[in-house]
Amino acid sequence: MRETETLAEARRQMEICNACRYCEGYCAVFPAMAMRRAFSEGDLAHLANLCHGCKGCYHACQYAPPHPFGVNIPATFATLRQESYAEYAWPRAMGRLFERNGSVVVGVTVLAVTLVLLLTMALQDPAVLYTAQTGTGAFFRVIPYWLMVGMAGLSFGWGLFAMGMGAWRYWRGTAPGAGLPPASLGAVTEAAGDILTLRHLGGGGHGCNDLDDRFGMTKRWLHHAMFYGFLLCFAATTVGAIYHHLFGWKSPHAFLSLPVQLGTWGGVGLMIGTGGLIWLKTVTDPGPVAKRLLGGEYAMLALLFLIAATGLLLLALRHTGAMGVMLALHLGFVLAFFVLLPYSKMVHGAYRGLALLRHAREKRAGRA
Ligand code: SF4
Ligand code: SF4
Repeated sequence: MRETETLAEARRQMEICNACRYCEGYCAVFPAMAMRRAFSEGDLAHLANLCHGCKGCYHACQYAPPHPFGVNIPATFATLRQESYAEYAWPRAMGRLFERNGSVVVGVTVLAVTLVLLLTMALQDPAVLYTAQTGTGAFFRVIPYWLMVGMAGLSFGWGLFAMGMGAWRYWRGTAPGAGLPPASLGAVTEAAGDILTLRHLGGGGHGCNDLDDRFGMTKRWLHHAMFYGFLLCFAATTVGAIYHHLFGWKSPHAFLSLPVQLGTWGGVGLMIGTGGLIWLKTVTDPGPVAKRLLGGEYAMLALLFLIAATGLLLLALRHTGAMGVMLALHLGFVLAFFVLLPYSKMVHGAYRGLALLRHAREKRAGRA
């Protein structure tokens, strides 16, 4: 990773922390920091991606602003994380999309929704957008099956591939000579456990400093609602595809069917999680927040919220004339999400997962 002002500032702050070590029990960052005497660019990018932004170290720190040392690890690491997303993005030139990321997310979303609406009107009678369609295959009378599967397959395939390439570049850039990500079963299990429980959003055991210097679990539970809600929605789509291709059971499915139930509860979780996280950002103490990143974060949370909201509205209105527009809007939002996967806050899942895996490996290798 190239040396930047943020990297130099992160190094300065880590050197202060490494002398202080007061926050050692807060999260994985400080034990990982203590394994090092010097901080390379890759080390700092690794530490930044290991940070979950719980803000505990900021509120505990005697050297935080207005102290002249100005130690503000959550804000500095959030900025550095964003720089690492841009640095390791694939293709490399696409890293520029992380600048003004909020505008990028909004622009791509508007384009995707417009594209789906235009294609629907070009390929079908535009009346399908406002005339009730019911019975087996109703959705495909609005948007042809081949178009739905083609757009989803291409955009999701591209998004996953580009994100995987970015994650590979990140791994090689931050852990030179560390080889392939797969590690011992113990390290993989520990990293997976940390991801699934968001252990490091637990701070020193009391939770995050969600609003101010008081501890709480709100952010952790909201993130869980979003994460598991997302997984349930993904499971709903997968089960729906299995129904269609293996059994020939076409959507729309009955309300109590497995894909609809998975999608309904997933959508509710996703709405609660994303809506709650947006609210939390608006009321939290701005001291440890990297303000210039907020646009991209709000935009991606809003996009996920809209995916869930239009999915649930589609379920509620599927027997009415509003189904066509709702389906087109929902698929437009999903298309935007897939395209933006490697060029938005969503990459934090891959980078943080690899940082946790690297940390688990280092502990076993005896660097702790
Ligand atoms: S954040 Fe502050 S209190 Fe915590 S280790 Fe660093 S310098 Fe010490
Ligand atoms: S903000 Fe939280 S997760 Fe990040 S370094 Fe500080 S204590 Fe660790």
